[in-house]
Amino acid sequence: MILLDPKNLTRPYPDARSAEIMRRTVDFFESKGKRRLLADYYDRPWYSDFLEFVGKERIFASMCTPAGEGAPDARWDTWRICEFAEILGFYGLQYWYTWQVSVLGLGPIWMTGNAALRRKASRALEDGGIFAFGLSEKDHGADIYSSDMVLTRDGDGWKANGRKYYIGNGNEAAIVSTFGRFEDDDEYVFFAADPKHPSYHLVQNVVASQNYVSEFELRDYPVREEDILHRGRAAWDAALNTVNIGKYNLGWASIGICTHALYEAITHAHNRRLYGMRVTDMSHVRRMFVEAHARLVAMKLFALRAADYMRSASSEDRRYLLYNPMVKMKVTTQGERVIDLLWDAIAAKGFEKDGYFGQAAVDIRALPKLEGTVHVNIALIAKFMPNFFFDPAEYPEIGRQDQEANDDFLFRQGSARGLGQIRFHDYRRAFEGVDLPNVKLFAEQAEAFRKLLQEAPPGPDQMKDVDFLLAGGEIFALVVYAQLILENAPRYELDADLLDQIFEFLVRDVAEHALQLANQPGSSEVQVARCHEMLRKPIHDAARYERVWKQHVETLDGAYAMNP
Ligand SMILES: Cc1cc2nc3c(=O)[nH]c(=O)nc-3n(C[C@H](O)[C@H](O)[C@H](O)COP(=O)(O)OP(=O)(O)OC[C@H]3O[C@@H](n4cnc5c(N)ncnc54)[C@H](O)[C@@H]3O)c2cc1C
Repeated sequence: MILLDPKNLTRPYPDARSAEIMRRTVDFFESKGKRRLLADYYDRPWYSDFLEFVGKERIFASMCTPAGEGAPDARWDTWRICEFAEILGFYGLQYWYTWQVSVLGLGPIWMTGNAALRRKASRALEDGGIFAFGLSEKDHGADIYSSDMVLTRDGDGWKANGRKYYIGNGNEAAIVSTFGRFEDDDEYVFFAADPKHPSYHLVQNVVASQNYVSEFELRDYPVREEDILHRGRAAWDAALNTVNIGKYNLGWASIGICTHALYEAITHAHNRRLYGMRVTDMSHVRRMFVEAHARLVAMKLFALRAADYMRSASSEDRRYLLYNPMVKMKVTTQGERVIDLLWDAIAAKGFEKDGYFGQAAVDIRALPKLEGTVHVNIALIAKFMPNFFFDPAEYPEIGRQDQEANDDFLFRQGSARGLGQIRFHDYRRAFEGVDLPNVKLFAEQAEAFRKLLQEAPPGPDQMKDVDFLLAGGEIFALVVYAQLILENAPRYELDADLLDQIFEFLVRDVAEHALQLANQPGSSEVQVARCHEMLRKPIHDAARYERVWKQHVETLDGAYAMNP
């Protein structure tokens, strides 16, 4: 089974330590038990028990220190990061978040040439420290060009003044990697700030949760040369390159949340009897479960495949810059679809304080909005469209990247520019030889979209129309999503029935977005005609559907329950 079952961890690791990290993390939550987990969620204490556990077990030290910067078991290894993030999401987004913002805070540190700060970070991780990423500001949102955190010359160093907003772990971090600009030359800067310094003022926690998502102010905070992480273009690149690493983990939080919610939901619905039958005997409820499960398996297959490209990336192969934002925007919005489907099926049960579902239903909404909204990420991936469809390149085949290795390239990604020059392997190869009705239908829809772009590419006014761009971007995203799912299906020995079930909803999703694109006020006649070619009805096969229900979905009833 491809879905995570924490009581039966099966993911293979080349070393004992990685497997131990996963097992101990699961044990921490299972020993804590569901009652206390949920009581903490609703009472909102700071999660010091979790942080004590990860400190004592050196879990962040092993997972978040690149090889050569710390103990021998330390490495930055996306293969194991996937499951770690998934487990944390499975038990609660708050636990994932304190780790995630530590990952982000560490980005500019592991990318710096400032060896003393790297050593400080490594020691802090060994001591159980957490980190923070101080990029966002209250008035500027996604517009990070407009930072008001200003460093003014003061003797040999500077004084920093300004406020940051939405900064996770800003209360307790060992180092807050803070983004700002120099007053004299207006260059960007990343520097290390210390929450314990008297000039660092913690203003408030802006959210009501176990997380501390801080607003903080630096008032004449002294910054010395040795506190500087990056300046100028390098500071900008460090911000974007860090988000490139971090945004990938958002998809895994969604996958973890949906997996736990699915176990709970099916176990409830399948055992609840109404009108003398199981709730899951009602055709619409069964369909919701089959679709939720298919969407979740697709999320996982895609995110796993994206990891292969991330781990094998280099300055010559930057394809991960398309797949990572897709994990962020596509996998997390699919997570919302999964929860919506499950919630419709279990109705009132989803509100109860004793269930994980109530927490899942709220937290799943956060992921599409963090680290760049869905809009920002679609606008980003749209840059790749021309090369993706019309100028494919040859690359060596990338296999499953599950080796014990440090992902060196992530901390030397180089300039964040030149996205339009990145080339991709031909997506059509993934469809070749797959003899499944809905996969073939999808390939025809993808071809209609390619023809649309060839015959009637968006004109200058359409390029400025963000709604138009978003509708087209969603179809492009579906083609990439389908491609990587197909690449990964044989690697995970995915059953053909389940693969066709996945493509049933993918065909439907393309049709939905094609209708949206056709309905844009600015769409041309040729564009509308091509959109109509994409309005295809998926092929329903009752026998296949029944097998998927019986073999993959019904069997999840009672398959996992958290210790009380
Ligand atoms: C719980 C939580 C924790 C967070 N933790 C951190 C943290 O630890 N560190 C940190 O630095 N930040 C953090 N953030 C900030 C987060 O990254 C921002 O919320 C995000 O960057 C978007 O900014 P915004 O929500 O203010 O939206 P805005 O920037 O105000 O966007 C408003 C609207 O404009 C759209 N938009 C903006 N720019 C574009 C564009 N270029 N193209 C298309 N549409 C666009 C958006 O999609 C949105 O619909 C956190 C936020 C939350 C809610």
